[in-house]
Amino acid sequence: MSRSAHPAGPRHADVMTEGHYTAPPADLNALDEKVWARTVTRDEEGAITVGGIGVTRLAEEFGTPAYFLDESDFRARCHAWADAFGRDADVFYAGKAFLSRAVVRWLQEEGLNLDVCSGGELSTALDAGMPAERIAFHGNNKTVAEIERAVEAGVGRIVLDSFQEIARVAHTAQRLGKRQRVQIRVTVGVEAHTHEFIATAHEDQKFGIALAGGQAAEAVRRALALDGLELIGIHSHIGSQIFDMAGFEVSARRVVQLLAEVRDEHGVELPEIDLGGGLGIAYTSEDDPREPHEIAKALGDIVTRECEAAGLATPRISVEPGRAIVGPTAFTLYEVGTIKPLEGLRTYVSVDGGMSDNIRTALYDAEYSVVLASRTSDAEPMLARVVGKHCESGDIVVKDAFLPSDLAPGDLIAVPATGAYCRSMASNYNHALRPPVVAVRDGQARVIVRRETEEDLLRLDVG
Ligand SMILES: *Cc1c(COP(=O)(O)O)cnc(C)c1O
Repeated sequence: MSRSAHPAGPRHADVMTEGHYTAPPADLNALDEKVWARTVTRDEEGAITVGGIGVTRLAEEFGTPAYFLDESDFRARCHAWADAFGRDADVFYAGKAFLSRAVVRWLQEEGLNLDVCSGGELSTALDAGMPAERIAFHGNNKTVAEIERAVEAGVGRIVLDSFQEIARVAHTAQRLGKRQRVQIRVTVGVEAHTHEFIATAHEDQKFGIALAGGQAAEAVRRALALDGLELIGIHSHIGSQIFDMAGFEVSARRVVQLLAEVRDEHGVELPEIDLGGGLGIAYTSEDDPREPHEIAKALGDIVTRECEAAGLATPRISVEPGRAIVGPTAFTLYEVGTIKPLEGLRTYVSVDGGMSDNIRTALYDAEYSVVLASRTSDAEPMLARVVGKHCESGDIVVKDAFLPSDLAPGDLIAVPATGAYCRSMASNYNHALRPPVVAVRDGQARVIVRRETEEDLLRLDVG
């Protein structure tokens, strides 16, 4: 099965071999620390706890399905990224992975900047008090109204994605009597996913301006000529769920080459480069992501080396991790409703959510793991497929996983690493009520995005 690339998700259906999970794990009750948030553990009774609170209590208080987010883990990851990149680089959290006002406040407290890519994300950021100069505004088709709002608010940078936008942003800034700091997003002909990258990828995508054919050089020419713009650098984002740094190496080399061309043509050394996001996390025990300090060192070394070779001063680097910060911090808790064993095949386990709270499995063939959360079990493993309650046979949450064979309706099961691109991509399909996000920290649980209600649905339906 082959699916097209998407910047927010992996496309490794063609890399994973069929029958990936042929052997059950040694211990079905184990919690692999790679895929679980840092404070997650099991209590004496065997139930999973996060931030010191057990899932049975959490389910009673907040219902299921629900996302439980380990706030101290989120903060620790922000801290690790900020610390790894240090004073000479900037970390922008990609808000599209998951954004709420609480998240914006945590980012501020932990010293991170924020990427937004719509008016809605921008308003959330500003409402929660993120200083505008720490916001970067992305998107391949920002509306004029969005551009106006961003310029007026004074965002730190707008990442220009097209020739039309160069003119639109320049015009808007000039009309408002401002000079807008901008970067130009280029497509470098690299496409990276998990363990693979293609250095000669076709620039057949909607984002950015191609390096090929002198397009990016022309964009720089135009941006430098416009009074409303202050061109601060070049931006490149090459893929998602990437483990191998080789794609970044090629991308950085090509961006630095453009910087050298800009210097030769205009006598200007652009001071910044942004290498985007896309750093991978562990969804299952098979995945081995890099730590932020390894990534920082690898990227720093590449850029320094390429700049030395080109005779350029090393520019300020920025990166935009989304998934790598929020992904591992949350799990989704579901209650098992029905169980359908199919002799010799697998057992279908239906939960009270599904593709409305996690579209990634249906959309990208994403892999997840799952455990029995409300208790431990010594029963034999059974090959299971965790499915939702929607009217689609593709409504799959976890395609192949082993669960204990004494699993019963009413048990709680938990799917880890659902912090990124789950709540933010959640839908109301079948008029599902989107689940809450509950932040848990030091024995305190707090709703940061409440559960949708039927009144919410009916309020939009004006009859
Ligand atoms: C989606 C996106 C990111 C974040 O990607 P992750 O895989 O969540 O790290 C960063 N920058 C840009 C431009 C993006 O589109």
